[in-house]
Amino acid sequence: MIVDLRSDTLTKPTSYMLHAMFNAPVGDDVWGEDPSMNELEEKTATLFGHEAAMFCTSGTMSNQLAIKVHTVPGDEVICDRLSHIYNYEGGGIALNSGSSVRLLFGDRGRFIAKDVIENINPDDVHYPRTRLVSVENTVNKGGGSVWNWTELQAIGKVCKENDLRYHLDGARLFNALAVTSQTTQDYGQLFDSISICLSKGLGAPVGSMLTGSKKFIHQARRFRRAFGGGMRQAGYLAAAGIYALDHHVERLKDDHRRAIQIAEALSKQPWVEEVLSVETNIIIFAVHDHRSVSNIMKALEEKGILTVQFGHKSIRMVTHLDIDDEMLEYATNVLDEILINTRV
Ligand SMILES: *Cc1c(COP(=O)(O)O)cnc(C)c1O
Repeated sequence: MIVDLRSDTLTKPTSYMLHAMFNAPVGDDVWGEDPSMNELEEKTATLFGHEAAMFCTSGTMSNQLAIKVHTVPGDEVICDRLSHIYNYEGGGIALNSGSSVRLLFGDRGRFIAKDVIENINPDDVHYPRTRLVSVENTVNKGGGSVWNWTELQAIGKVCKENDLRYHLDGARLFNALAVTSQTTQDYGQLFDSISICLSKGLGAPVGSMLTGSKKFIHQARRFRRAFGGGMRQAGYLAAAGIYALDHHVERLKDDHRRAIQIAEALSKQPWVEEVLSVETNIIIFAVHDHRSVSNIMKALEEKGILTVQFGHKSIRMVTHLDIDDEMLEYATNVLDEILINTRV
């Protein structure tokens, strides 16, 4: 059996989703004439209580467009050192927007309002103009960590008081919503712009949504065109997104339950030093000696369990739509039985 826990981006469309895609009415979306795309964009905007929304090829594109619209060259973006926009988007902030970055050192990717206040530059020619605060929920590199709502609100207040824009990289926002009491509407009210991924836990093959005011999305649409991200009969992809929002949100809690069970099996193993407490669908564990990481990954792979190295001496596993209870049982049994020679 293959249990592919490398990422929640690896999911393949279900037959129901494919059926929805094949039957989608389509048109030219660059001309605004794709009915399926228009439906997805309206649906997403309504979901968050924002005026408008736009489909993007990737979460990287939706984040980068947001940063591009919110800033001008020479501005500064405040974010955590673990953030995706800083680590995994190809230096896009500098490349696309010409902005500098002020990194904060939060707890598993979560900083506090006081950190933001202390890192806003004074209005003085020496400094870049602080313009944007970006938070990520859940934090991928933080092991799927979930933000405290009160803190997000406090940061929002700081942004308002200092004329800063507030962006949410919500690639896995629905995972956070599944374990907290807030709604998409709450998030829509707090943030100027939100990016969500359809192709992670929600299981669509392609795509992310960017939401915000009409003016913001209009500008983002111009930049998307300029970056070559205007697509024609994109409704086939939109249909997958609509299907994902309708059918794959509720089930995220099953991923979370399975992640906790895997973490429990891991925490009993002598070769595991520490398992980061599991908050959603991401499990990150450290091994005793960094030199044994590849041995452990190889031993697991021989049993069909695929993982990725995540930092110096850590390994990441992610549960998702294509991991079921049978695979879970198999994986936890393997973990309980496998004897790994962790010496190099
Ligand atoms: C996956 C991810 C993105 C977007 O990644 P793409 O590969 O460009 O779709 C953005 N932010 C976070 C936190 C992510 O995990």
